Amino acid sequence: MTGFRDKAGREWNMKTYAEMIARTTTMEAHLTGTANWLLENGYDLVVISSHAGSCEKCAPWQGKVLSLTEKTPGYPTLKDARADGLFHPNCRHAYSLYVDLDAEIEVTERETTFARSDDSNSGEVQQDIGSAVPVDSIPSAVKRGISKALAEALAHGARTGTECLLTLDASTGQPAYERVDGTTYSVQFPETLIEFLRKADRGSVILIHNHPSSSSFSNADLRTLAGYDPIKGMFVVGHDGTKYYVGKRDAQVTVETILKTYEKFARQYYDEYYRLVNANRMTPEQASKEFSHRVLESLAAELDLEYRRWDTP
Ligand SMILES: [Zn+2]
Ligand SMILES: [Zn+2]
Repeated sequence: MTGFRDKAGREWNMKTYAEMIARTTTMEAHLTGTANWLLENGYDLVVISSHAGSCEKCAPWQGKVLSLTEKTPGYPTLKDARADGLFHPNCRHAYSLYVDLDAEIEVTERETTFARSDDSNSGEVQQDIGSAVPVDSIPSAVKRGISKALAEALAHGARTGTECLLTLDASTGQPAYERVDGTTYSVQFPETLIEFLRKADRGSVILIHNHPSSSSFSNADLRTLAGYDPIKGMFVVGHDGTKYYVGKRDAQVTVETILKTYEKFARQYYDEYYRLVNANRMTPEQASKEFSHRVLESLAAELDLEYRRWDTP
């Protein structure tokens, strides 16, 4: 896990950093950080910024959509653009996430990942998760299964420092698919799980996973929630014991809407948390956690999703 160092020399969390992908910057290191995060989250397309008075070399590339890796056919690659002179020294151009949903979904459908959560697990993870699951829309019999699954995900995280994904039947709380073990940064959906999620009834599945960083849902998590009708809701348990729930009510939310809304609020709140870290009023880890929670609160209110965060004492 590498962070970057801001002016105050403090390490700012890479995940949070990457969530400001829309901020333009000319520094190569920042571009590389953005690219890494985008790739880790399954994105491939970026759009080049536009400025008045662009240098001649870059003018043809302004506003163009590029593929970082060549995996999305039909777009020039970042390599092509560089070879043509884009991002020359002192270039003011930058790139940010571009979502071509048809193309991206096709490519990433089979490799959907939960976003990376950084850092190691601390040795002192709470094992007693309790039975409280303060989500009104879930029946109490199902809550028992969820408590068990949250405890299992947390124990897995404490043992391995990696993520795992549990799939429960939303009407019984019983496992509906075997546990999927991930890496430090992600969980890959096996093809059979994707098939299962495609065929299951609407609102019949609850997903549970752990976040070593203890931050709230990532935009990749939300993409999964919106992308599969059968998913009623998702729980995340942080390695510090914080729990989160996001779930659908009646309204349909599209992947496009959820990602755009996430980006909107991430842009809106980023600077505030960046300044708190620079002023030593929050650690990067705290800022990352609070920032992600704030984005989710606003997103849930706007899209009429159910959203909760709680701690079990
Ligand atoms: Zn330039
Ligand atoms: Zn996640």
